[in-house]
Amino acid sequence: MDAGLKRELEAKVNAGERLSREDGIALYECDDLVWLGKLAHQVRTEKNGDRVMFNVNRHLNLTNVCSASCAYCSFQRKPGEKDAYTMRIHEAVEKAKEMEDEQLTELHIVNGLHPTLPWKYYPKVLRELKGALPGVKLKAFTATEIQWFEKISGLPADEILDELIDAGLESLTGGGAEIFDWEVRQHIVDHATHWEDWSRIHRLAHSKGLRTPSTMLYGHIEEPRHRVDHVMRLRELQDETGGFTVFIPLRYQHDFVDSADGKIRNRLQARTKMASPAESLKTFAVSRLMFDNVPHVKCFWVMHGLSVAQLSLNFGVDDLDGSVVEYKITHDADSYGTPNTMHREDLLNLIWDAGFQPVERNTKYEVVREYDKPTPLAERRAVPQQVWA
Ligand code: SF4
Repeated sequence: MDAGLKRELEAKVNAGERLSREDGIALYECDDLVWLGKLAHQVRTEKNGDRVMFNVNRHLNLTNVCSASCAYCSFQRKPGEKDAYTMRIHEAVEKAKEMEDEQLTELHIVNGLHPTLPWKYYPKVLRELKGALPGVKLKAFTATEIQWFEKISGLPADEILDELIDAGLESLTGGGAEIFDWEVRQHIVDHATHWEDWSRIHRLAHSKGLRTPSTMLYGHIEEPRHRVDHVMRLRELQDETGGFTVFIPLRYQHDFVDSADGKIRNRLQARTKMASPAESLKTFAVSRLMFDNVPHVKCFWVMHGLSVAQLSLNFGVDDLDGSVVEYKITHDADSYGTPNTMHREDLLNLIWDAGFQPVERNTKYEVVREYDKPTPLAERRAVPQQVWA
């Protein structure tokens, strides 16, 4: 990128002017990662200071049986496969209860589109979970699952959401978004929920007072222009509803050989590479600059590793997810050593070591607890620093 264009973009960002599609594409073409990071960090600091939010949550996948076969997905199983599973309601509750003494504040629940489970299973499981863990907020179901519930129940999303909210639902999850552009989407997505329905369901959720996350799956067959288009659609919807709390760029994961059965399930494997750390940092930075009306940008460290998660805090990110004790969808596809367990203390040290102030939040981004500011770097140099894998 030439110096003139850099100055032009800096001036726009400094003036708080909204960046255009062309600006977004130009930012992705720029290889000056330090400059991109500086610009994104400026915006992130204006919005969130030196705070890094996190929450202590648990991911729960009630079933991995799915009627769809999305090309990138290594999680789904077909009925009868030997490691297909579906939890009974009491099993889900027992699993959640195991975490009680970790003071979790959120359960994050996503599932396959099970072909025969009745719709009533889902509000029932929420109700039981809420009864067993009343202090824990339930963030559950993608827009894809909500549309699936419409199909299996014959009810409109309006009634589905009302019943789920009555049973304890406090937020949808942001999944099912992948990349909205049809040029790419038709090759990677097998379920029926595309932009029109994904946005319809989130709009409806926002109108009922729920605030929801938004996501983007990147680093597969899409091009930077598709990422820009994706963010611009979400930005427009955010102008309308103001209901998105956060944007989460999710790094597509290669499917290594599944140790359980020796299979490679990801059908994009031969055509793709995973995004490099530099590409991930650029994606965080451009997302922060383009998505000017969303309060937070999150790094889901499970998909990036801890070093990139730390660096991302200087590239527009101000939110780390979370204390994840079990996360199946990524870890079925991950054999390069990302830990699958982080506890509160680990996260605090990770954030302090990166030079930021940790703030624990709940699902609604309300502050649960503010922690100390980090020790200034000059003072910390006397102490050996941890190397984060
Ligand atoms: S991404 Fe979701 S809908 Fe698609 S196959 Fe996997 S579990 Fe099913």
